[in-house]
Amino acid sequence: MRILITGGAGFLGSHLCERLLGEGHDVICLDNFFTGSKNNIIHLLDNHNFELIRHDITEPILLEVDRIYNLACPASPVHYQYNPVKTVKTSVLGTINMLGIAKRVRARILQASTSEVYGDPNIHPQTEDYWGNVNPIGIRSCYDEGKRVAETLMMDYHRQNKVDIRIIRIFNTYGPRMAENDGRVVSNFILQALKGEDITVYGDGSQTRSFCYVSDLVEGIVRMMECENLTGPVNLGNPAETTILEFAERIIKLTGERSKIIFKPLPPDDPRQRQPDISLAEQKLGWKPVISVEEGLKKTIDYFSALISK
Ligand code: NAD
Ligand code: UDP
Repeated sequence: MRILITGGAGFLGSHLCERLLGEGHDVICLDNFFTGSKNNIIHLLDNHNFELIRHDITEPILLEVDRIYNLACPASPVHYQYNPVKTVKTSVLGTINMLGIAKRVRARILQASTSEVYGDPNIHPQTEDYWGNVNPIGIRSCYDEGKRVAETLMMDYHRQNKVDIRIIRIFNTYGPRMAENDGRVVSNFILQALKGEDITVYGDGSQTRSFCYVSDLVEGIVRMMECENLTGPVNLGNPAETTILEFAERIIKLTGERSKIIFKPLPPDDPRQRQPDISLAEQKLGWKPVISVEEGLKKTIDYFSALISK
């Protein structure tokens, strides 16, 4: 198949490019390099089934493809808050442009949505039928509400124009090729530990997250795309929940470093708890994560360790 991956030079996108090339598909990676990097895909450039296009999805483009994985969007709070108006445009105009291609060439399109559509959730763990508790006017809203509108657009193009859609809600995912400067908790803590700096826990560290290793997530994404008669949304993530304070202690232990934990103010609207209910993915896709957090963190620590010793 000919497959378009928007945001293909980013963290998740680059792993997805690799996976689909490995299956023998033609892969078009489209990216504006806002948070992605050529380094993430440099090893793929010699593969004649791989094509790279520098393009911003907020601008229209027409491509003949069979599948569209729409991953383009800055994902870390630091990056999506850098230019919030652009973040909204990427989720809204960008998704409209990608749905326009899907409609015209009858491609199947998968939208990378997020656990952020649940906001600061009042039910725990989060199931797909929960509508969420999202602040529409806060500093996270450009991302959360943008992604919610993107889901709405997907459903409306499906109902109105019969576009073949898939929606996944991705929970915190980590692994090699996360951007060094993206401020997410996994990259921050590992880099702080490896550099012997203090580990910055925001708030008292009692908020929870559930971390999924990238190879598990990619497996789930591909299964969802190729699953017949299922539009989603479907949660994809690892239900192994941890408080951020426990997570900091774990990283200190795994890196073998002696960093001290310090506490910094909690950013506004930071969700208190987050854990996916993945029953639907288990049932419909036969999918669940297989990489333990310990194993995944070791691989990620090795990656960052090699990166900073370069
Ligand atoms: P990332 O920032 O590494 O990747 C995003 C990619 O999109 C980058 O390569 C960036 O340059 C590109 N991009 C951004 N705006 C663009 C635009 N207007 N036009 C073209 N390209 C653009 O982030 P990631 O973690 O790989 O996330 C990928 C997708 O998965 C995002 O849509 C994100 O919202 C979603 N997601 C990720 C997580 C996670 O934990 N990693 C969780 C939930 C959802
Ligand atoms: N966090 C932290 N220290 C950091 C970076 C993040 O304590 O250096 C916290 C953050 O406040 C949040 C959690 O870790 O509660 C996850 O943050 P991240 O930005 O990785 O993802 P998100 O909040 O979008 O889930």
